[in-house]
Amino acid sequence: MKVLKFGGTSVGSAQRMRALPALIADGSPKIVVLSAMQGATNTLANIASLCRQGSPAAAQALARTMSGEYDAVIDQLFDTQRYKDEARKGTAAIFEQICALAETQPFALLHERIALAQGELLSTLLLNLYLNEIGAASVLLPALNFMRKDITDEPDIYFIREILKREMAQYPHCPLFITQGYICRNHRGEVDNLRRGGSDYTASLIGAAIHAQEVQIWTDIDGFHNNDPRVVSHTRPIARLSFDEAAELAYFGAKILHPSCVLPVHEAGIPLIIKNTMNPSAAGTRISAQADGERIIKAVAAKDGVTAINIKSARMLMAYGFLRKIFEVFERYHTAIDMVSTSEVAVSLTIDDDVHLPKIVEELKDFGIVEASGDMTIICVVGSRIAESAGVAGRIFSALSGVPVRMISFGGSSHNVSFLVSSPCKKTALEALNLLMREG
Ligand code: ADP
Ligand code: ASP
Ligand code: MG
Repeated sequence: MKVLKFGGTSVGSAQRMRALPALIADGSPKIVVLSAMQGATNTLANIASLCRQGSPAAAQALARTMSGEYDAVIDQLFDTQRYKDEARKGTAAIFEQICALAETQPFALLHERIALAQGELLSTLLLNLYLNEIGAASVLLPALNFMRKDITDEPDIYFIREILKREMAQYPHCPLFITQGYICRNHRGEVDNLRRGGSDYTASLIGAAIHAQEVQIWTDIDGFHNNDPRVVSHTRPIARLSFDEAAELAYFGAKILHPSCVLPVHEAGIPLIIKNTMNPSAAGTRISAQADGERIIKAVAAKDGVTAINIKSARMLMAYGFLRKIFEVFERYHTAIDMVSTSEVAVSLTIDDDVHLPKIVEELKDFGIVEASGDMTIICVVGSRIAESAGVAGRIFSALSGVPVRMISFGGSSHNVSFLVSSPCKKTALEALNLLMREG
């Protein structure tokens, strides 16, 4: 069994949906995970934010515009009146629910999550009906039945595996299951999600749960590129990455994969393949346990929205237990630390979640002088044995000689070197590293 995930662009229009059966309905067993149509989750987020601001009428007007757009898709997607009617009935029920939700007072986080979940419910409804119309046997598996997070807000692997198996066992001869990415329930059974871009994570969790042969992520580009194509020109797809390399790049900003998506397939030893829906014959990228030595410097990614915190204290001098006390502050506020650098009298670290920053800074003041600076970017350079190969660090540093580097993380793993720069320097840094990769 394979798991195939199609992102927002891949289901972004009637034309794109009509192209999917050629990729998924060949009779071999598959679970297909869909994102919402491109832009749908953003519109739903806008609807939710209007509701939160107490403007239900504006939210409903936006929902009606969105509903009209789905009517147009339905007209283009289906050939028969029977299926057009059935699809319209399904989408109308979803938009009625959104309009009713808009009137809920007070509009709480749970209502927002229910609104955000509708995009994936819409796209899967349409594709499943379309497959039925063209005579391809498929079954819709509701992700809200089996995709669940536990009390720690992490996927409940045991529940997912057992319930998914039970649901699938009801259709022993079905070769094609369609389900929603991104959406799930929390430990209280309420509608929740796996955070933006989370459909990749759904596919990976399902792949691990059913011990899939492989998980394919179908998107709008020919595989994982060696640099961010939104920022730099002349990037190129990478044929192979190891799980560690891909996880590092995804965590440090490569938007093509959700940051958590690599772990479940890595643990289960299932290859993750990235393919282009617009160009299915392109080789794409294969992510597996096998790292190849194609190049030492393989790829670069950048993570924005980082805050650097510096704590200066003479009490650190030859003291033990100091770092633990500092880390405990971050732990109390459930805030992950990405980079750390220490000297005898100071420690610098970075975080990307600044929700609790004021309180964290206040508590850190007990240990010394604290400075926090926002608008920073982590540049992550990845490659096999990058931190062990002679001369590589020198080449990276000289490529970045025109960029003021605020922090360096080197040696934490053999396949990653990271730099902290101020965000306005990101483009220059990525371009310099691209030039270095092009030189070989
Ligand atoms: P989907 O909707 O299919 O999930 P995303 O927009 O989430 O697609 O991810 C694909 C996009 O990620 C690409 O179109 C590209 O602009 C962006 N991207 C950022 N970094 C990379 C990278 N290193 N390789 C490929 N694409 C990248
Ligand atoms: N639809 C969700 C989003 O836009 C999830 C996804 O596309 O992966 O974030
Ligand atoms: Mg995505």
